[in-house]
Amino acid sequence: METAAHDVVVVGAGCAGMRAAIEAVDAGADVGVVSKLHPTRSHSGAAEGGINAALGNAADDSPETHAFDTVKGSDYLGDQDAIEILANEAPGDIYQLEHWGCVFSRDEEGRLAQRPFGAAGSPRTVFSADITGHVLIHVLYEQLMKRQASGPLTVYEELFGWQLVEEDGRCVGVIAWDLVKGGLRLVTGSSIVLATGGMGRIYRATTNAYACNGDGMAMALRAGLPLKDMEFMQFHPTTLYPSGVLITEGCRGEGGFLLNATGERFMAHYAPNAMELASRDVVSRSETTEIEAGRGVSGSVLLDLRHLGPERILTRLPGSRELAMTFAGVDPIFDPIPVRPGAHYHMGGVATGNWGETELPGLYAAGEVACVSVHGANRLGGNSLMETITFGRRAGRAAAKAALARAGPPSVSDAPLADAERELGALLGRKDGERPWKIRDELGSSMLENFGVFRYPERMERQLELIQGLRERYEHVVVEDKGEVFNTDLTQAIELGYMLDLAWVMVQAGLAREESRGAHSRPSDFPERDDERFLKHSVSRWRDGGPELSSEEVRMTKWQPEVRSY
Ligand SMILES: Cc1cc2nc3c(=O)[nH]c(=O)nc-3n(C[C@H](O)[C@H](O)[C@H](O)COP(=O)(O)OP(=O)(O)OC[C@H]3O[C@@H](n4cnc5c(N)ncnc54)[C@H](O)[C@@H]3O)c2cc1C
Repeated sequence: METAAHDVVVVGAGCAGMRAAIEAVDAGADVGVVSKLHPTRSHSGAAEGGINAALGNAADDSPETHAFDTVKGSDYLGDQDAIEILANEAPGDIYQLEHWGCVFSRDEEGRLAQRPFGAAGSPRTVFSADITGHVLIHVLYEQLMKRQASGPLTVYEELFGWQLVEEDGRCVGVIAWDLVKGGLRLVTGSSIVLATGGMGRIYRATTNAYACNGDGMAMALRAGLPLKDMEFMQFHPTTLYPSGVLITEGCRGEGGFLLNATGERFMAHYAPNAMELASRDVVSRSETTEIEAGRGVSGSVLLDLRHLGPERILTRLPGSRELAMTFAGVDPIFDPIPVRPGAHYHMGGVATGNWGETELPGLYAAGEVACVSVHGANRLGGNSLMETITFGRRAGRAAAKAALARAGPPSVSDAPLADAERELGALLGRKDGERPWKIRDELGSSMLENFGVFRYPERMERQLELIQGLRERYEHVVVEDKGEVFNTDLTQAIELGYMLDLAWVMVQAGLAREESRGAHSRPSDFPERDDERFLKHSVSRWRDGGPELSSEEVRMTKWQPEVRSY
């Protein structure tokens, strides 16, 4: 087996992974970046609407207001010390990105423009038209390449991280499948940073790419680490019907209306002050209520941009117009766009402290894979890209510092490698059985049906049973492609195993949370938030072949829970 050793190994090369790697190199570490995709193909590149920082360019704003909006948006489940770090450090991080070359849109005076986003007390979202993620990911990649040309940095593109390696109570590496050449590879490091992104693909209707399967969360779970707040999946209110492609919140930020079948701006009934710019959980529930009450249009509601006029649509929202035309056959200059809620962002993840550190010495996590937790029960649009940058930077710095304080690369015994080879041999050696895709489809559809925007006890129970059935079928899954090169049959089978573990964890945590908070809504049995019993994080660990649930206090600094209305 080919091996490589570095001070710091970053698994994942989206915004969080690349930002962590850049910081670790700048701190003097030799860094290896392992990614199953070419870095610029990472899902961060799909981000559209923008990135939040209280610059105060469009109206009065402050990090304090940013922090409060985020705490309230999180339905008081976010850890307030982490949220304050995000809000305080975001402006400096934005200026640094700008100096590195991010071409952000400008206002008439030449300052960075800022647009309103849902549940934000001030226009706070910095943007590059509606291709912000594309701009960020290319600038970060440039910075990465610049360092690779001159420093100790190796990017292992198309290496699929499979298992974390632990030695003497420390995380010391990752075992990966080489997608290009085939075969297992071991990449060791004194510090490992997980930055593998989200897991929207666990749902059939999602804005997430095929790569977003929660790999890093499942790897950490299997290594015995706690996952936090796994029941909280955000459904974005405006995903195209029927494809699920995202139409950015920036459309509503620019003034778009949501209409039902009768042409009514129905948000007036649900969030009379914020209207279309209420928080995402509120808007998604309102849309679902309209659709279920028969006031939808073929399973969707309508996003109307026509009154913005062609010039604004063409300059501020060109990407959204193109998506609507390509995937729904609708030109928003002339017609409203059919939209509905779709699985978009997972608030939970690997539990970390404010420097990305996890419970396992040597292991760090940042970005959507992690739960630090700045989003609590509901993320505000624009905060996630900011989290990848601010906490990616912090995780990279801490990982480098810890690695450089150690005396050389860790030694790794042969046992984990031999186990991995055996496991792989068994999976590839199986001759008969079911192909993974059908199990994957059934998982995605049933999660949408039984663990979606609204959650009912009997449906959650049914979902748990279904997951057990799917897990039994997974035991006999067959990988028909036995080849070495780009064997996506193999990686999809592995990813399905990850998703089945995570689905179990999510639904178990959802059943136990007997309240409605943020994205977790139980209208039939527990319609209210219950701070007395549930102002706490869910913590899930894998024990004896299944998830075990406990809880942890929310870290509060200055904001006590209040009624959350918009
Ligand atoms: C369509 C869309 C639009 C969005 N728009 C916005 C927005 O406007 N503003 C905002 O704040 N947020 C937005 N978000 C959310 C935000 O973009 C993401 O949460 C964020 O970009 C995630 O970044 P990341 O670096 O954590 O993960 P990703 O960018 O998903 O990167 C994950 C990386 O991990 C690698 N990886 C995964 N598994 C493995 C493995 N097993 N082995 C090796 N490598 C692996 C991948 O190759 C990839 O490089 C949007 C999300 C979507 C889906």
